[in-house]
Order: sequence, then C-alpha cells, then structure tokens
Amino acid sequence: MWANSDWLRRPIEYVKGVGPQRAEVLKTEVGIFTLFDLLTWYPYRYIDKTRLYRIAELAEDLPGCLVKGRLVHVEALGPAHNKRIVARLEDGSGMLELVWFKGARWVAPQLKLGAELVVFGKPVWYKGYFQFTHPEIEKPGEGEGVANLALQPLYNSTEKMKQRGLDSRGLARLIRTVLTQDVQDVPEVLPKQLVQRLGLMARRDALLLIHNPPHLEALEQARKRLKFDELFFIQLELLKTRGDRHQHQDGFVFAKVGDAFQDFFHHHLPFTLTNAQKRVVKEIRADLGRGKQMNRLLQGDVGSGKTLVALLCALLAKDNGFQSCLMAPTEILAQQHAETFQKLLAATSVKVGLLTGSTKTAQRKPLLEALKSGELDIIIGTHALLEDPVVFHNLGLAIIDEQHRFGVAQRSRLWAKNTMPPHVLVMTATPIPRTLAMTLYGDLDASIIDQMPAGRKPIQTLHKTDAARNAVFGFMREQIALGRQVYLVYPLIEESEKMDYKDLMDGYESVVRAFPLPDYRVSIVHGKMKAADKEYEMNRFSRGETQILVATTVIEVGVNVPNASVMVIESAERFGLSQLHQLRGRVGRGAEQSYCILMTGPKVSAESKERIATMLRTNDGFEIADADLRLRGPGDLQGTRQSGVMDLRLADLVEDAHLLQVARKCADDLLSQDPALTAPEHAVLLLALQSKRQPRISWSRIS
Ligand code: ADP
Ligand code: MG
Repeated sequence: MWANSDWLRRPIEYVKGVGPQRAEVLKTEVGIFTLFDLLTWYPYRYIDKTRLYRIAELAEDLPGCLVKGRLVHVEALGPAHNKRIVARLEDGSGMLELVWFKGARWVAPQLKLGAELVVFGKPVWYKGYFQFTHPEIEKPGEGEGVANLALQPLYNSTEKMKQRGLDSRGLARLIRTVLTQDVQDVPEVLPKQLVQRLGLMARRDALLLIHNPPHLEALEQARKRLKFDELFFIQLELLKTRGDRHQHQDGFVFAKVGDAFQDFFHHHLPFTLTNAQKRVVKEIRADLGRGKQMNRLLQGDVGSGKTLVALLCALLAKDNGFQSCLMAPTEILAQQHAETFQKLLAATSVKVGLLTGSTKTAQRKPLLEALKSGELDIIIGTHALLEDPVVFHNLGLAIIDEQHRFGVAQRSRLWAKNTMPPHVLVMTATPIPRTLAMTLYGDLDASIIDQMPAGRKPIQTLHKTDAARNAVFGFMREQIALGRQVYLVYPLIEESEKMDYKDLMDGYESVVRAFPLPDYRVSIVHGKMKAADKEYEMNRFSRGETQILVATTVIEVGVNVPNASVMVIESAERFGLSQLHQLRGRVGRGAEQSYCILMTGPKVSAESKERIATMLRTNDGFEIADADLRLRGPGDLQGTRQSGVMDLRLADLVEDAHLLQVARKCADDLLSQDPALTAPEHAVLLLALQSKRQPRISWSRIS
C-alpha cells in the first residue's frame, strides 16, 4: 500500500546487510519482499528505557525495567558443562538478583565485583529478592546504554529468521541502518494541506520515529500519522470505487410507482411500516430512479422487517416492467419467503414462483417457461436460480438474503444473466459494527433498518446451568400449556463431529422422555438429514403440529415461526455472540412475551462469561456486534478476510474508530471536490492508490 517510490520498492536483497540468504528467509517466513515491507514491519512493543528504576521501586507487574547499581556478589553454580551464574546488584535502595542459566562463558567476564553496571530485565519476585533472568547488561556511559536512553523496539521474528541473525535486535539494526542512511528518500503520500490541517507529522519522520522513538509522545505522533495513512487510503479507494460506479455503471431506470405498488401499499399491507422501513424504501427508490445500477446493502437486525422491504422493491420493479428474484441461502428459507410473498400478494395479480434444488421436473418446466416469457414477476429460490437453464425475460432487480453465505463468484453469475446488470439489494441480518461496515462495505451504499416493529415485547434472556435443567423443562411445559412452541438448540459447529452429534441425539432422547406422547410432540432437524426430511420436520413445527423443535444451528438463519416463544440454547458457552443473537432472534416474532434461556455447564471461560453477560444485558444487535468485535478482533468476523481490514498493521477498528471517521470524512471531502483526483496536488494520492500492492476483491460488484 502506498509504496510509491522506486526506493521503497527496491527488492530486499539489495538492501545493505541483507543478501540472498537473509532475503530468502524474509520473503518466505514473513512476506517481506521490498524495502517498504521491511519498514512497515512495525515493532509490536517497546521496552521503556527512558527511566532508571530504584531497586526499591521494582514490582512484579512492571514490564522491563532499567536499573543501575554496584555489583556486590558473583557466583558460578553447578557442574562445569552446565554452569549457572547468580549475581547481586545494590543501589542503596535494595538488592537485585541477576541470574543466567545459559551462556555463563560469555557473561562471567563482564561481571567485575564492585563495578557499576546498568541492567535491564523483567522483575520477578523470588525467595526474598527481585530477580532478573538473563538481563541485558551494559556498563554505564558506554555504547547505546544510559547515554542513549530510549524506547527500544521489539520486532516479531521466527526461528528461521533468528538463525540468520534476524532476531528482534538484528531486525532493529537492519531497519535503523536503512532509515538513517536513506530516510530522505521516503516520499510524502498525502497532500500538504491535509497534513497541515490535521497536524500530522511528515511520513518520513513518522517512519523514522516509530522504529526509534526518543520518547512516548513522539511515538504516539508517529503511530497516529501511520495509522491515518492506513485508514485513509482504504477509505479513499472504497469511496473512489463507489464514485466511479455511480458515474459509470448504467442501470435500469425505475421511474414510476405504479399500480402494483400502490394497490399493495394501500389495500394489502397488513400493518403500517415502521419509520425505518419507510426511510429505507425511500432511499432505495431514489437509487432505482437514477439510471445507475444500484448496489445497496440493507442491514437490519433479526425481526426488523427486511422481507417486506424486499417485497416492496420487487413491486417497484414490476411497475416498471421488470422481473425480480430473491435468493436465499437455504431451501427452508426460500420456501418461507415464497410463502410470505404468496400470502401477502394473494389478492393481487402479481405472480410469484419458487425454484429450489428439490423442485420437481414437472413443476420446473412450466416455471422456467413462465420466467422466460415474462409471465412470472417474482422468482424466489436458492442458488438453483444461478443455474444455466434459468433464463429471465428481463431481470431488473436481484435481492440476496444473508449475503455472506453466497460467494462473490456465485453472485456474479446472476449478473451474467443480463446485458445490463440488474439492481442489487443485499440483505443481511448480521449487524456489524459501524467501523467495520465502513471498511468492509465502504464502497456500497448502505441502508439500515434500526427500529423494530411496534408492539414487540423485548425478549427476556436468562442464564441457567445444567443443574437447573428440570426447572427449565418445567418452564417449557408451562409455555407449551399456554399454546406456545419451543426451540432447543445444540451446538454442532462441525456437522461431522461425532461427539456433537451424540450430544444432540442424547439430548433429543432425554427431551422425548421428558415430553412424552401423547401430550407432546417433538421434531428434530440437523445437518445430516436429507433436505426433504428436514423440510418435513420443519414444516410440522412451523404448522404447530409439534411443540418442540430440537435442532442444530441449521435454524439459525431466518426461520420464522411467530408462535414459538422459547429458545433454549444448550452449551451456550460454545456459541459466538452473533450466533447467539441470531438464534435468539428466532423467538419474539409474535405478540407473546418470549424467552431465551442460555444453558451452560457450571464453569465457563472468562470470554464465554463476557459473551453471556452481553446477551443478558442487551437485545440490540449493533451493541452486540461491537462487543463481538472487541472480544474477537476483526480477523474472525465474517467477510473480513477479503477486505482491507487485514492489511491494517497499526490501526485498530475498535480503538481507532474516531480516526477512521476522520479519515473517511477527509477522503469523502477530497473526492467530492476532485472525484477523479486530477488536481496536481492530488497526484500523490493517485500514485499511492495505484501502487497498492494487491488488488482487493471489490465488494462494489457484489453481484
Ligand atoms: P427480518 O428482518 O429478520 O427478515 P422479517 O422480515 O422476517 O424480519 O420480519 C419479522 C416479522 O415482523 C414478520 O413476521 C413480519 O411480518 C413482521 N413485520 C415486518 N414489518 C412489520 C411492521 N412494520 N409492523 C409489524 N410487523 C412487521
Ligand atoms: Mg429475514
């Protein structure tokens, strides 16, 4: 990223002190190919050598400390081939013990009794003294020691690098040589005005200082500058991509709101839209009328009513003479969507079809013909929609539910079904933190439904240990007696894991024993079942023929059974936060008070505790997403691997949220003045963008 000078692009083997063998190790071990890669191999930590500690001040929780004193005792212990050295240092405030288990031969000559010595180590309390094991030692006033007190950088390194002398110290030396010789060659990548306005330090100073900071304040300034660069260039690229698309990618014009929409809206809408739904529909309508292709992400918590928004958009398409499709990640979901659409549109003339992998040939043929002739207005389905025999008359709008389950490549096949790309609406119920969204989907237009339909009672969430199982079963009986239904979910993270499967089956049997026929009926659904069997069992539950559904996370996404009011999650400590939240979202869809019961063993890890506490504290998907990001970091979250997030070396989406906002705003302002970055003072930016090392997957072309 932004390595826009020949000097920085110089291959690592031509750097003084590297040579072919070290270069090979740097490339294969840590992917350092160029001088730029080396200079952005930032220290992971610094040892504070900016102050001397008195021995009396030492404490166990201090990191490395620098101590100056007089050597009052030196002793070699153990057999000749395995000598260990114990020495004591005194500074008038106390006594410090120094221990070497290895390297006695090298160390011993440096330890002259009575000499002044500066040592550096991590204090550990051992039998009445603080001890430094294998401290660094220096004579005062010599070399880099006290005379050159500073923050000493520590670098990550590997065994193979260490064998070639590229341990932390070796790397520090190498980087310092490069920087002291040639730092003047590091080009600035930001326009002068921007650097001045934000009070940032020059890039070359920042690089110099981050590897060799004289004090903490300078380090902070250097880090801020380099973090800004990371965040700014990601945003600039995303926003530029978006701008270019807005300008160049033509799309169908959905200019009018016609009969299909009006008729449904005024006569068949079963409830009033929430304000958030209204706002989102408006945003989408504006997009659809612009003559440019829409690529919009629709985010909304589970139960916020995204399906209805999708339906309204499909009606807009029809009013403008176009077909739409709605693609769901599973058969069950596709089927549910189709039922919802068919029910809501039953009294209208809009025609809806369903196509999945299990659609019978006899139904498939007429369906495909109706699609091709344009007789069918809306088709709902799974990835079966992507297959070659599926030909549209004129696909104007593609709606994709739960985007992260479809690969980018898969989606682009839909795109290929038209000469002009259809408008694309991607719906996701996985709330992601704003900072992450900005980075992941920063090139998409986003609409957020941030409001739940009125009249919902917040779900009550409880935590119970396995010991309380009888009480939980008792509670389930009470709810069933009231006519409600219950989900009981087991973790099956790897569907092939035998143990998980056994747990599920054991669980199922104990549920069947506790809830016997003829009063109770229990369904089971898991990933090992055939699609048809799954569907059969799901349908029994959704029609209310069974009261309990024992399931794995198969049901995580989208299933809608409004009469279900209890979600019991077994081994809840094994689920991630967003998964727990998704599961909880399966209840609370009707008018009844709903409950989510998190079952765990008696002991859970600190992180699991935190997750459960978060679930008990809030129902807000965005708050949960933030907590998830804090707990796990961005690396584990869906979709982050394909994004620029993983290029971040210094910036942290949680800690640097504010800087990210600033960076995005700057990029946005800049592009609104100069969309193509053609102004002379922006030449550096264009150059930096072009020199980004790897082409990233562009999310702007989500379909
Ligand atoms: P999700 O956003 O999770 O896909 P759905 O679209 O499935 O949510 O909606 C959840 C439930 O809320 C459905 O039963 C739907 O009929 C209902 N619903 C949607 N919008 C409204 C509204 N404005 N008022 C009342 N109920 C609504
Ligand atoms: Mg949904």
